[in-house]
Amino acid sequence: MNVSATNPSQASSKTAGLGLRSYENGVWSLDSGYFRDSFDAVHLIEDRGELAVVDAGTQFSVPRILQAIQELGLTPDDVRYILLTHVHLDHAGGAGLLASHCNQAQVVVHPRGVRHLVNPSKLWQAVCQVYTQDVAERDYGGMVPIDPSHIIEATETLSLKLGSRQINFWDAPGHALHHVFILDEGSNAIFTGDTFGISYRELDSPQGAFTFVTSSPSQFDPQTHKASVMRVMQAKPKAVYLTHYSELRQVQAAGEALLQQIDSYAALASRHGHRGQGRAQAIAADLEDLLFDQLKAHGSLLSQKELKTLLALDLRLNTDGLICWLDRIKANS
Ligand SMILES: [Zn+2]
Repeated sequence: MNVSATNPSQASSKTAGLGLRSYENGVWSLDSGYFRDSFDAVHLIEDRGELAVVDAGTQFSVPRILQAIQELGLTPDDVRYILLTHVHLDHAGGAGLLASHCNQAQVVVHPRGVRHLVNPSKLWQAVCQVYTQDVAERDYGGMVPIDPSHIIEATETLSLKLGSRQINFWDAPGHALHHVFILDEGSNAIFTGDTFGISYRELDSPQGAFTFVTSSPSQFDPQTHKASVMRVMQAKPKAVYLTHYSELRQVQAAGEALLQQIDSYAALASRHGHRGQGRAQAIAADLEDLLFDQLKAHGSLLSQKELKTLLALDLRLNTDGLICWLDRIKANS
């Protein structure tokens, strides 16, 4: 079956539930099923019958990924690489379980992420501490360790061959220190994980896509984040693929908006840095004002109430991450 020619509109009802979508040049997205519809994407790259999976969702995403592979007329043994943008659990939680199904696959991750995949206990404990064990198990399912012989470090000198195309890696700090950008020469696109922002399709307006920065805990850093965004812009890719959520073609406009937002996030957090107890509420309120004003100017079709529901999790995580950043710069000063 020529998967590149498959029309997603002809997909079976089973596939429709996966949110499987075909882009140009052998790139596909599917919905990982995490949290809500169209929140967390897993991408597939197919070239001459070889597959790479970009980010693996959580453990609960694995049956969906395996089903998508089957829908493409391929098998788990066709997966050559599981490429992780970073080791946050909505990206890497499912990697170990998926790897256990894919006998030919190597897992590719930032050098700082390797130890968390080999022995996930520390990462898992941290997640349980933040969310409680019950919630962590309900939302992420756990993590399966990966044998070090099945892991490749994604350094800037690494170049992988998938079918007829090359895949390269850039260090991409700013959202997390264990983050890489994944450059696919075949599609002239960059898989940006969380370091080129978030762009939910619900926020699209007649003006196009709306993109915003995620400063979720605990390694947000404005200066390196801006450098990472600029590097993507300078590369002038045809598209970027975000984990939240998928393809973005207005790369330069989105990049400009992200650069301004990073400054705005840092400025509003710094304004409340001296506060004690009311700090989180003040930062959350300013963040909400900033994003809602920008969404209004963008011509968002959603009501204030709908925006509050859609962005509640991000506003909370972004606030928490800005507080982590304030505490870090204070500790280092
Ligand atoms: Zn992340």
